Amino acid sequence: MSRALVVECVVPQATSHAEEVASMARNIGYQVLEIVIQHRKSLHHTYTIGPGKLEEVKQTVAERDIEAILFANRLPGAQVFKIQKVLGGTEVKVIDRNLLILEVFDKRAMTKESKLQIELARLRYTFSWGKEFLRLKGILGEQVGWSGPGNYPYHDYQRGARRQISRLERELEDVYAKKKTSREHRQELGFPIIALAGYTQSGKTTFFNKVAGENKDTGLGPFTTLTTYARKVELSDKSNPYGAILIDSIGFIEDMHPIIVKAFNTTLGEISTADLALLFVDASEDLESVHRKLSASSKVLKHIAPNLPLVLCINKTDRCTLTQLAEAKKLISQEFPDAPKVVLSALKGENVTDVLHSARETLENKSKIKPGEPVSRVVPSIIVDQSKS
Ligand code: GDP
Ligand code: MG
Repeated sequence: MSRALVVECVVPQATSHAEEVASMARNIGYQVLEIVIQHRKSLHHTYTIGPGKLEEVKQTVAERDIEAILFANRLPGAQVFKIQKVLGGTEVKVIDRNLLILEVFDKRAMTKESKLQIELARLRYTFSWGKEFLRLKGILGEQVGWSGPGNYPYHDYQRGARRQISRLERELEDVYAKKKTSREHRQELGFPIIALAGYTQSGKTTFFNKVAGENKDTGLGPFTTLTTYARKVELSDKSNPYGAILIDSIGFIEDMHPIIVKAFNTTLGEISTADLALLFVDASEDLESVHRKLSASSKVLKHIAPNLPLVLCINKTDRCTLTQLAEAKKLISQEFPDAPKVVLSALKGENVTDVLHSARETLENKSKIKPGEPVSRVVPSIIVDQSKS
């Protein structure tokens, strides 16, 4: 577990991503010890945060034995290296929000296609950093955190990176060519798959831990590499057992950099092979956010998994007033009129079993509607925009 600090510079009118970054980081195993937020009129041109604040961060790094600095901002150009230089070299890993998001994708990706898209995105995102890196290399020594140019002169690095990008693109084409209309996961497992969907911080992992806490992670078949995120669960009473595989998927993320959107679509697209998604909504947010996130989720889901049955999980009700809850429910019914809806508090464990019952009912209804028929599955790759960027 890497000991980490989340650092952010917030300028007027900008949305803070610090809490979200901390939550994503914890989900993939960072130990976030502190969140450092600086408010400035504008981002500092060299370090994003001010030089004085960076000195404070340096002190904290030494005092608290910090191994990673996670910026909630996007660090432009090669600021990563400049920040590392101030912090005393590459002992400390420095990444920005986008590189962290790619780490999150990478932890969850199950298919070769997703892995390749993620690697490609990382390479494209850091492509222009090579030059700056070489300029600072003498001071920095070894590089950490991205596939850097090593000892090559810049033009060699660039040629190498280009070659790597082309190789990945060719491999991807290969994957597309060989793609089966895959129902592989299910056939291997023999259990229906339930994926958790919804925005970061809507409570998916909290729900997963509540449910998975009472269940063992044995017999996961193709998900054995994902034991932290997949669990076999029982959806019902002992007299009438009904097993399923619950997967804590990556979820939606706001303000994604264009270079990483494709990797997101492909990785999230893996849930289109699920039998059901539990779509989490944080009902305690302001109505504007609830509305924005609902319509965005609806759009993405229609795009990547149009036939995926949903159960709407209206979460964090322990933090809602009755009026707030009623208004949120109204919005949810407008956006998802046909899906069953369950009100719950994942944190307090309230109505968690109602969600499981509703999941079971939906799965059973689905098989009643089409007896004996194979469930239609959308292959993730068909939604991927294959145009070169
Ligand atoms: P994820 O990003 O969707 O996996 O969200 P998490 O499960 O990590 O939860 C994000 C934050 O919301 C955490 O601080 C949780 O403790 C909190 N949270 C989750 N569910 C509830 C809930 O039902 N009520 C309240 N008050 N907080 C919750
Ligand atoms: Mg989570």
